[in-house]
Amino acid sequence: MYNPKSTKACEFINHNEIIKTLEYSYKNKNNIELIDKILDKAKKRKGLSYNEAILLLDCEDKEKNEEIFELAKQIKNDFYGNRIVLFAPLYLSNYCINGCVYCPYHLKNKHIPRKKLTQEEIRNEVIALQNMGHKRLAIEAGEDPKNNPIEYILESIKTIYSVKHKNGAIRRVNVNIAATSIENYKKLHDAGIGTYILFQETYNKESYEKLHPTGPKHDYDYHTEAMDRAMQAGIDDVSLGVLFGLESYRYEFVGLLMHACHLEATYGVGPHAISVPRVKKADDIDPDAFDNGINDDIFAKIVACIRIATPYAGLIISTRENEKCRERLLELGVSQISGGSKTSVGGYYNPMPDSEDSAQFDVSDRRPLDEVIKWLMQLGYLPSFCTACYRSGRTGEKFMEVCKSQQIHNFCQPNAILTLKEYLEDYAENETKKIGYELINKELEKLNKDKNIKNIIIEDLVKIEAGQRDFKF
Ligand code: SAM
Repeated sequence: MYNPKSTKACEFINHNEIIKTLEYSYKNKNNIELIDKILDKAKKRKGLSYNEAILLLDCEDKEKNEEIFELAKQIKNDFYGNRIVLFAPLYLSNYCINGCVYCPYHLKNKHIPRKKLTQEEIRNEVIALQNMGHKRLAIEAGEDPKNNPIEYILESIKTIYSVKHKNGAIRRVNVNIAATSIENYKKLHDAGIGTYILFQETYNKESYEKLHPTGPKHDYDYHTEAMDRAMQAGIDDVSLGVLFGLESYRYEFVGLLMHACHLEATYGVGPHAISVPRVKKADDIDPDAFDNGINDDIFAKIVACIRIATPYAGLIISTRENEKCRERLLELGVSQISGGSKTSVGGYYNPMPDSEDSAQFDVSDRRPLDEVIKWLMQLGYLPSFCTACYRSGRTGEKFMEVCKSQQIHNFCQPNAILTLKEYLEDYAENETKKIGYELINKELEKLNKDKNIKNIIIEDLVKIEAGQRDFKF
């Protein structure tokens, strides 16, 4: 039976409830009266439950769809303004004992070069990332208790935080490693991680078991209940995601929102962020082998509906998607993107020709970070390298409180300006600098009108973000 407060996977992600929800939505997808009711609720900006949001996703009425896209844009603007947070993935090791059929790390793939970074190599990667201007990383590793035990991950996090090259620093390390025990989540929490990220891949148990035929990841319940263990261990910022293309997107959409609803009902905190990756070409992997690929239009609608259903959650799009697709999704709700990414182990310090590469999947947006920053500003966005929230203890419930009351911009806007200024001074190309300083002046003009925010600049930021640096505004 469906029970959002249960900690049993089959009860908080309930197959029968998903099927019932999908049937009801299919029958009512063009019931304009019902769609209008849901839109009225959504306009209150308190989010929607899975059984409401799916009706918006399924709706075929042209006029209503325009309204849905417009609302997503407005909500994005109300909660996130024009800020876009930047991050990069750092691949530590591609050793893996799982058999995931969509992932090139799978155990049977004998032609992908296997690599695991030493602490010295991690230092080199971090320096290369700092030299690009990055402040926030997501570390990634395959699942292999012998090669990548928790001790290796913990040591690597310590190394990453310890590297201070010129003015550079990695101030937030998010972690994307396989589902693990409460004890290990406690260790990650004590190591000062930002968000714990784990993609569900698919919420459909039957498909999940087929797609993960061997290895520890085969256990659907253990994987699905991972966020509960993370939360119980004290990690209060967790990030959800599904790998679109593996199963029907409607099933995944409902499962994802059910998961968000479960976390909120059980722990009082919904997901800090949601990722929407699509299956891509990779070594030994042909995305066309999966029947559920989605086109760019459906993808855009999914992003818009997630934005409306969970206004408080960061929405992440990686370099798996190309520039054009990313541009469209930024408008509809995406608030965080990766830039200048390499998905190979050791790829930042030592870029390899494709043939020798250990990359996890093909990157579609291959532009250097500086180009991505310039592009964002030219589109009217304010790139942000901010990591202040978690370093000043605004995580979990505290973060959600500020975010849900739409007050988070009081912190984020000045933090974004300050960290962009840092980036421009330390790393930007001349043209990016020029565009950036003009943008900062414009943003400051807006901020200067608000005394409250000016105080926050001094109290929250200068101390936290820029440390010793004397930035005068
Ligand atoms: N090993 C960790 C785990 O078991 O969850 C996660 C690390 S893995 C490097 C990160 C994510 O990459 C996976 O969760 C999966 O969703 C995604 N991924 C795997 N193969 C992919 C492909 N061919 N295209 C796009 N994304 C892929």
